[in-house]
Amino acid sequence: MADKKLVEQITSREEDFAQWYTDVVKKAELTDYSSVKGFMVIRPAGYAIWERIQYELDTRFKATGVQNCAMPLLIPQSLLEKESEHVEGFAPEVAWVSYGGSKRLEERLCVRPTSEVLFCDYYSKVVKSYRDLPQLLNQWCSVVRWEKTTRPFLRTREFLWQEGHTVHATAEEAEERTLLMLNIYADVLENELAIPVVKGRKTDKEKFAGAIATYTVEALMHDGQALQCATSHNFGDGFAKAFDVQYLSKENKIEAVHQTSWGITTRTIGALIMVHGDDSGLVIPPRIAPVQVVIVPIQQNKEGVLDKAYALKDELLKAGIRVKVDDSDKTPGFKFADGEVRGIPLRLEIGPKDIEKDQAVLVRRDNREKIVAELSGLTVEVEKLLKAMQKDMYDRALAFQKERTTDAKNLDELVASLDKKPGFVRAMWCGCRDCEDKLKEYSGITSRCIPMEQEEISDSCVVCGKKATKMVYWGRAY
Ligand SMILES: [Zn+2]
Repeated sequence: MADKKLVEQITSREEDFAQWYTDVVKKAELTDYSSVKGFMVIRPAGYAIWERIQYELDTRFKATGVQNCAMPLLIPQSLLEKESEHVEGFAPEVAWVSYGGSKRLEERLCVRPTSEVLFCDYYSKVVKSYRDLPQLLNQWCSVVRWEKTTRPFLRTREFLWQEGHTVHATAEEAEERTLLMLNIYADVLENELAIPVVKGRKTDKEKFAGAIATYTVEALMHDGQALQCATSHNFGDGFAKAFDVQYLSKENKIEAVHQTSWGITTRTIGALIMVHGDDSGLVIPPRIAPVQVVIVPIQQNKEGVLDKAYALKDELLKAGIRVKVDDSDKTPGFKFADGEVRGIPLRLEIGPKDIEKDQAVLVRRDNREKIVAELSGLTVEVEKLLKAMQKDMYDRALAFQKERTTDAKNLDELVASLDKKPGFVRAMWCGCRDCEDKLKEYSGITSRCIPMEQEEISDSCVVCGKKATKMVYWGRAY
């Protein structure tokens, strides 16, 4: 009964998706509310997922020459205000520090909402000649944005992220770096998190404050809403000019650098939950799962059972598989449900009868397939199942995305399609901001991106009917 009750506490996705999300976050012990309004506690199970995501990204960043560093937490008001578009974009959601102890500060300091200006300030001091370029820096930190409504992982006043900031001698190099980092995000999302994405460029309305181009990877959640998973910006030389980040070229000329920034946040965990989770809880793709296999001993008080469980754990560990034994005094039924709610990809059951037959029972979390495996070939079987599950999860998410992507030739089609079957709608656009504003006001639909892979669905803008210039992915978004 215990395990049945545990599962019943999760609202079904079809009944109430928002409540389902909240239930899963709570039951899988990913976050907790804190006494600081709008701020979340990331619990060990949630943080372990973030650490896995961090590892996969950080390894790839470093392979392209990026180094990590740490910038200050606070930004003087005058520094934040140096680039006008940037400050306009962030001013409404900045938190300020006005006192140091009991003394009122001469200049207010904001808690970083992002650190472009700090990196610019630093680069203006260390970049002198073409020999100092490129500079490829990143920091893993948290930032604060004073959001009005908050939800665990998706929107909180403080969130964890990485922000990479690079400066280059030429515009071409900066554009190349912007796209290189976008491709790393897409790679980690698709191949590690099993989340298919649409790669594209943001419209001017949706781009980052101060950027000349913002690229994005967009994913579709199970309720048909889009989620922007990561962005990569090309700043051109706008920030460089505002902050005097200049260098002496080989030709002995003073030139402004060309700059990029790129980031991904703990929102990604929200995406992972909403793409893969089911009515029993979280389902974590094997490659990103902090624990890939949970061993549940059956009748663990019987002689030899726990020893066998630990021996199997050691064997799997040696093969590089992340594994734990649930040797708590709970019933096996409770442990099954607990492993399910936490999304552990594989369950391995081992009891006296199994030991007698030299076998173990393996159960996949995603489709609950049960496999009886001989102990002699256990590691190979586990590796095979983890690999298959990773692929199946990606394939299912991709099939869902495709099924929920439709084309529209006019406004009625677009809105009807999103109301009937929420997802992405591909439709043509004239390039005019008014048309985007109209769509947003009319029904909360936003442009998600101008995809890299363009197609001509029709020749006129889906909103105004004038000549179209681009095909756009539209949707409602988190
Ligand atoms: Zn238009």
